[in-house]
Amino acid sequence: MIFIKTEEEVEFCRLSNLLVSRTHAMLASEISEGVSTNYLDKLADQFIRDNGGIPGFLNYNGFPKSICISVNDVVVHGIPSKYVLKDGDVVSIDCGAIINGFNGDSCYTFEVGNVPQETKKLLICTKEALYKGIEKAIVGNTTGDIGFAVQTHAESNGYSVVRELVGHGVGKNLHEDPEIPNYGKPKKGFNLRDRMVIAIEPMINMGKRDIYVEKDGWTVRTRDHKPSAHFEHSVVVRENKAQILSNFELIEEVLKSKLN
Ligand code: MG
Ligand code: MG
Repeated sequence: MIFIKTEEEVEFCRLSNLLVSRTHAMLASEISEGVSTNYLDKLADQFIRDNGGIPGFLNYNGFPKSICISVNDVVVHGIPSKYVLKDGDVVSIDCGAIINGFNGDSCYTFEVGNVPQETKKLLICTKEALYKGIEKAIVGNTTGDIGFAVQTHAESNGYSVVRELVGHGVGKNLHEDPEIPNYGKPKKGFNLRDRMVIAIEPMINMGKRDIYVEKDGWTVRTRDHKPSAHFEHSVVVRENKAQILSNFELIEEVLKSKLN
């Protein structure tokens, strides 16, 4: 079911997404070689609770941790563990937080130390593809317009688009209709309407698009074990330009200050 939000509900979504982005910004200063993904999960869980939120992913369909941490060839749904980050890893952190009953949902892919140039390019292209999709998230367009924009950008750069996992409406429920695939055809799919809140989240592989799910029932990996990147914003559909509710600037300020 598609839920068109009231303006008040949009503001609740903005609050929860802001907390998600602040959590990402906090993690940005902690992510480095030698840190375990379990440790990052604990920090995120505490930060969300200390700031009046509830971790949105904990126990969602039985997910055992508060954030998803997907390293290198893990596409999504990586479970935080004893794994210790090492130089050259790329780490997607998908985070959800609930405030006032509304879910925020955003993902950012971080670099640990010296990442190979070709992997950096994958990350840049995936983030660009996200913004190409967001440009299409306006009243009068369709979910197919978004998917087409994402897919065209990724594939024209030689990458492939994961098909099995898609973006979605988001609000009182973490996953609401409509689905927002990262592939598609212009003018196809669902019509976008004012005050729809949707999560757009390209998952782009350096190699082939094929994936598999590990025996733990969660961890999604690329079949060729080449890296994958994942960037996600929650946005509200508007007449001329979507408003982005999550905030990468908060994250990137911290990343910049780490370089100095
Ligand atoms: Mg997410
Ligand atoms: Mg999502």
